[in-house]
Formats: sequence, C-alpha cells, structure tokens
Amino acid sequence: MSIARLSNAQRVVVKIGSALLTDAETGKLNRPWLQAFVEDVATMRARGQEMLIVSSGAIALGRRALKLAPGKMKLEESQAAAAVGQIGLAHAFQEILSAYGRSCAQILLTLDDTEERRRYLNARSTLNTLLKFGAVPVINENDTVATSEIRYGDNDRLAARVASMISADCLVLLSDVDGLYTAPPSQPGAKHLPEVAEITPEIEAMAGDAASEMSRGGMKTKLAAAKIAVESGCNMAIGNGRVAHPLRALEDGARCTWFTARQTPVAARKRWISGGLKTLGTLVIDDGAVRALGQGRSLLPAGVTAVEGKFERGDAVSIRDAEGREIARGLVTYSSDDAERLKGHNSGEIETLLGFSGRAEMIHRDDLVLKS
Ligand code: GLU
Repeated sequence: MSIARLSNAQRVVVKIGSALLTDAETGKLNRPWLQAFVEDVATMRARGQEMLIVSSGAIALGRRALKLAPGKMKLEESQAAAAVGQIGLAHAFQEILSAYGRSCAQILLTLDDTEERRRYLNARSTLNTLLKFGAVPVINENDTVATSEIRYGDNDRLAARVASMISADCLVLLSDVDGLYTAPPSQPGAKHLPEVAEITPEIEAMAGDAASEMSRGGMKTKLAAAKIAVESGCNMAIGNGRVAHPLRALEDGARCTWFTARQTPVAARKRWISGGLKTLGTLVIDDGAVRALGQGRSLLPAGVTAVEGKFERGDAVSIRDAEGREIARGLVTYSSDDAERLKGHNSGEIETLLGFSGRAEMIHRDDLVLKS
C-alpha cells in the first residue's frame, strides 16, 4: 500500500537536503549520489510520472567555493554563497538529466510566489507547462533576494507549498533520517513510526529541533511540511536519502514514515475554492458558457455578459447565469477592470484590448468548481 503511494503517484515532488548533496568532509557536490538519484527520477519520469525536484545545497556549495570560514554566516554571506552555489547545482542537474534525454528547468521561488494568489497562478502555470513539455523542474528558494521576513527559510516547507500549488499527489522528503521516531532515535526504546494518519499534538511533541549548519530544516519543519501536504490532498513520506538510489529503495520497501492524505488533491483544491475563499465579485455568463462549464470546459471572455464587484487577478469570484443563479466559483485570471474590457470578446482580441497578450481563459477549468 505505502509503496504504491510512490509508484502509482501521478505527480511527485522530491526534496533533497544539503547534507545529501554535499560531501561532509570536502563540502563538494556528491556527484555519484546525485547521479544515482537523478537516474531514479528519470526512471519514474519514463514510466509516465511527472517529477519535480526541490533541491537544497546552493548555500553549502557556494560557501565552499567562496572559501568562507565554518560557523554561522551572516544573512548577506549566505545570500552571496547561494548565488555562487546555485549555478553549480543547476549545472550538475542539467548535465545529469540531459544524459537521460530530459530538459532541466531551474525555478527559484520566493515566499510571495506561493502565498500571493496572482503570483501563485503564474508560478503554477509555468510549472504545469514545463511538466507538459516533459522537463524536470529543479526548484530552490531564491535565497539571494529573499531576506528573513520574506523567506520560507527551509526547503521542507517550500517543497510542501510547491506540492500543494501544483496539486501533486506525492511528496518525498529525503534526508539523513528514515522517518519519524517516538523519541530521538539514539534513545533506547525509540520506536519508528511507519505511518502517521493524523498530526496530533503528541506527534508534534516527537519532533526535535535538530538542524545542521548547512540545512535549515529539522523534524519540526518536516511536520510543518506534512501538515501543508496532507491538507492539500498530497501523501508525504520522510525517507532516508543516505543510500544510492533512494527512490528505488523506497519503492523496494525501505523504511520511511508516510503521512496520509484523506482526500485527493483535486478534492482538496475544489473544497478550498468553493468554500475556503471569500468571493469578491461576480461574472454573469450567457447560456452557451453555462453549457460549456457543464461540459468541464474553461470560462472564456466571450461568454461573460457582465462583471460586478472589484477584484484582482487570482481572486475568487462567483459565476452566475442570466437569472442570477450561482453556477460555479473560480479563481479569475483577470482583474475586474480587465474583465470589463474583455467581456463578450474572443480570446484572440485580448492583446488588442489590453495591450498585452494575456491568457485565453477568463477562468481556467482547473480553477473552477461547479455548484452542484
Ligand atoms: N535554500 C537553501 C540552499 O539551497 C537550503 C534551505 C534548506 O536547507 O532547507 O542552500
């Protein structure tokens, strides 16, 4: 069952920590390990699974390249180190992935990219497009520009936010532990937990705070990530990355801890759109558009007859028919001002009407929930 969660997943995000990527003695990139890991990713991709990697290691690699002294770094030093290290990291991924015929896409995110709905829509559609093209996105925080107030701070939560944003159904956090224990694993009597059905206060109390000099996450951030993941309908595993071929090992039954989602990503997202958000306006649509939505299609500007309320791109709006019945809710692609200009027009006219080439849909079908 737990193995199937990985091998049957459609869309998998795998996070790898700095400690796995860098050699503890030399601080250099652990290339043989990366090679084997990427081979696992390529195998899963070839099987039809969509794969995304969240990779740490930029700061660790950059610090070595810049020959910075050991110990705690100032914020600006770690930002400088990240700028240097990220290039090497991306290069290594690109080289190794290309041997498997895969394009590697670098994505550097800041907190706003997943927290602010307008930017969230942009980041999501870029990631979806890359996956459609068969590329493997390699994601990290944009450490060089992210300052303490505007950063995720750790890639565990970043990976969970990404998984939630793109409706992934599986997230794997690879680190130097093989899961969650009832007490620090070195203590006698500490028991490994293969499965966590619910993150209770007792479970939270089991997470220590251990984080190393290079990596920011400990068990606490992994639990925070698990909460984000399962809320979004994504199963999450914490597994040992300190083996060659860590994903293959998990598929072969290596010990890990699974956090189980109780709903699918689609159900979680639909619930969020239909119930979790305040609608800021209304789009009134014609009968043709009502039929199109009923067939699972997107809402195009041509079908909109009136725009009510003040909203921005990414806000939730209500969709009503000519009689005022609520047909659906969704996240709108355009602000109310732009929607007003576009209503009743064909998507081909968007550039002329707005002065920039926008997306064809007023609301994309992935962002729409029909009222039953
Ligand atoms: N973004 C950081 C890096 O690339 C790592 C953050 C973390 O360790 O979680 O070095």
